[in-house]
Amino acid sequence: MADCTESYATEFPAGLGRPHFGQPFDRTIEHGESATLERGVVVFSLDLELAVASVDDRSLYRSLQRNIAGTRQAVRRLLALCVAYRISATWAIVGQLFRSSPTLDLQVDSWVQRDIPDDQLCAPELLDEIQQCPVGQDIGSHSYRHVNMAAADFDDRMIGEELAACQTLARGRGLTLDSFVFPFNRVARLNLLAEHGFTCFRGANSDWYTRGPAGNHRLFAFWRSALKQADDFLAVPPPVDVPRRVPAGLWMIPHSMMYKGAGRARLAFLRGVLPDVWLDLASDLAINRQVVKAARGIRRAVARRGVFHLWTHPQNLGQHTGRTLAGLENVFRLADRYRRDGRLDIMNMAQLTSHVQSRSTSADPKVGAGSMPAGIG
Ligand SMILES: [Zn+2]
Repeated sequence: MADCTESYATEFPAGLGRPHFGQPFDRTIEHGESATLERGVVVFSLDLELAVASVDDRSLYRSLQRNIAGTRQAVRRLLALCVAYRISATWAIVGQLFRSSPTLDLQVDSWVQRDIPDDQLCAPELLDEIQQCPVGQDIGSHSYRHVNMAAADFDDRMIGEELAACQTLARGRGLTLDSFVFPFNRVARLNLLAEHGFTCFRGANSDWYTRGPAGNHRLFAFWRSALKQADDFLAVPPPVDVPRRVPAGLWMIPHSMMYKGAGRARLAFLRGVLPDVWLDLASDLAINRQVVKAARGIRRAVARRGVFHLWTHPQNLGQHTGRTLAGLENVFRLADRYRRDGRLDIMNMAQLTSHVQSRSTSADPKVGAGSMPAGIG
């Protein structure tokens, strides 16, 4: 049970500013210079939040509970895989998890205090394991308590406190946070990120199925969702892009695809209706499609000298961990093979940012800034 007596910003409104269902991303981001790369790059980033991202939604927490409970062992096995294939990933971690005491700096309902175990709100020993991984990992931020930074309910002072708290907690571990992943993938307030020492962030991409008519109506959301299912099933090659410098001076590293894992949680309602062997087959098919899609992304990155940026949540690996990690291992193996052939680099977000910064032609990030789609497909 969480003891929510400690708070560093009691004026912060309750809730995380969760976007409405199907609310489309703003995929148009002002940017200037586009990086050029000598060869393709694979970036792997992870959003680690445990239960912190669901304290405002009890039914969401319940639906994720088993995945969250399995996240610790999934992270350990994933780190072993990173060592085996020399993968340095970016771990975007919510600041609350840096804390060692069972406190939640968020005004929350009593069910959170009653139902969520302490070790789903604090995870310093897990951070130790990531930080001490023999293949160095990039520890970045996913905000302090997983707030939607684009929400109008929050002003710059509140968001600034979030970011400052993250850097303060990181300094306590001898770290500086360079990489940022926006909660709900809602990109906003880039000047604040720069003010608080961040140098790069994960941006949206230009998946074909997001380019049609946009709107907040549920019909649009269902339509986009249906197209996305088709895209997943056909394993359409994912977008591959290059880092782009935004006027605030940061580098945007667009994502290419999310690795969702076994997907059996979505089929849970069929448990007891269909034999388990059918559900296992559906899981294996879902994983196979993602691995094929990721392999196409890697080959595209090599051919176009772009970045294939794969991301996931460790909690996506929290159930059916063995088969989900086996799929990911296939992706790592392919990337490692191209790297051995000298045709691909594997870098975390901070490494890629240092790399493109050192090759940058523009001292002033504002020069040539324009409004362009966030991805080039
Ligand atoms: Zn998140």
